[in-house]
Amino acid sequence: MDFSWSEEHQAFRKEVQAFIRANWSGGSERGDDEASRNYVKAMADNGWLTLAWPKEYGGRGASHFQQLIFMEECSINGVPNGGQGADRVGPVLMIHGTQKQKEEHLPKIARGEVSWCQGFSEPGAGSDLASLQTRAVRDGDDFVINGQKIWTSGARHADWIHVLTRTDPQAAKHRGITYFMLNMKTPGINVRPIQQMHGGAEFNETFFEDVRVPAANIIGEENRGWYIAATALDFERSGIFRMAGMIGPFNRLAEFAKQPDSAGAGRRIVDTQEHRLKLADTATEMIVARYLGYRVTWMQSKGLVPNAESSISKSFGTELQQRNARRGVSMLGLYGLLAKGEPRAPLGGEYGHLYLSTVSATIAGGTSEVNRNIIATRGLGLPRG
Ligand SMILES: Cc1cc2nc3c(=O)[nH]c(=O)nc-3n(C[C@H](O)[C@H](O)[C@H](O)COP(=O)(O)OP(=O)(O)OC[C@H]3O[C@@H](n4cnc5c(N)ncnc54)[C@H](O)[C@@H]3O)c2cc1C
Repeated sequence: MDFSWSEEHQAFRKEVQAFIRANWSGGSERGDDEASRNYVKAMADNGWLTLAWPKEYGGRGASHFQQLIFMEECSINGVPNGGQGADRVGPVLMIHGTQKQKEEHLPKIARGEVSWCQGFSEPGAGSDLASLQTRAVRDGDDFVINGQKIWTSGARHADWIHVLTRTDPQAAKHRGITYFMLNMKTPGINVRPIQQMHGGAEFNETFFEDVRVPAANIIGEENRGWYIAATALDFERSGIFRMAGMIGPFNRLAEFAKQPDSAGAGRRIVDTQEHRLKLADTATEMIVARYLGYRVTWMQSKGLVPNAESSISKSFGTELQQRNARRGVSMLGLYGLLAKGEPRAPLGGEYGHLYLSTVSATIAGGTSEVNRNIIATRGLGLPRG
């Protein structure tokens, strides 16, 4: 088995790195401030935003491994990777959209002019998403939407939302769902940020009160939205970005550990045997996580459909993010818990922040418990509990 990258892949990685070096001048990885929006624009101008799109839609038709390398480098360097429009909504429209929808939305997404958010989860529907209750009722050529979404990442800054609604309450729960696109400026949509424990407010509650949306904004067919949303969720690929996002913080922690301990006369933090072993554990587990992600990509590149393999990669990778954060703060001592911006915070408060922010990693995109159910039933063939 050959684990090395081909020359072509190595050259591609260098091309990505060169683009990031030339265009990134700081900003938010989520792409929600001016500097990062300008960066996303530069990505669009240089064809990086639509890297994965087929050539017929103006993309580069990149291979699965090129996309993986691209995502890895974005995460390692803490830069935006394009967002949901290019990643999710565009590909769904290519498969299920009408000609008019494609003509209206794909060019704007490709030019980086619009940002999208995802309105799927509700207060009573997360893991069991098909229980969603937000209602859309037909009224002539329109539908009228009432209900509430929650955990809508980026909703405050988004221009458009793709949203799942219940259109047939009598049908079996997977069969009465319709998938809409809405402009976030439509009257009746209200967004309320949710304060998070690390100080940020990336999530939101999104309320719909008598919101009118033309039937022409349905993606796919009425009442078939569940199956189309499944396509959208499929576009979340190997999840390699989660693991790759750890590389920078881990390397900085390992470097820091070689420095003299600020409290102890010349003693280095790594002199503590426990910490040395913890760093060694994380280094080992990071390689495992990386290859679990590569396996998912490899399967996709062969036309196979990863299932339990994605769940293994997701749960292992996100639990490792949390372990790394815990090991980091314990190594850094009491100062390690200080927040970003505190003058005495080691590593600029990066680990205090990670300790709080990685809690959500094992929830977003499928919880660890749900993933373990998938590994047990679909991977191991065990009966349902
Ligand atoms: C960082 C982040 C970003 C997100 N962004 C978005 C977004 O942009 N748009 C959006 O729509 N949603 C978003 N979400 C919501 C996310 O999809 C849900 O949080 C997730 O699906 C879990 O749903 P829930 O929070 O309702 O928890 P629940 O489903 O209520 O789960 C509660 C607990 O019960 C456990 N549980 C549930 N079912 C089972 C089962 N069958 N077996 C065993 N245990 C079970 C879960 O593992 C969990 O521990 C985001 C979440 C996070 C954390």
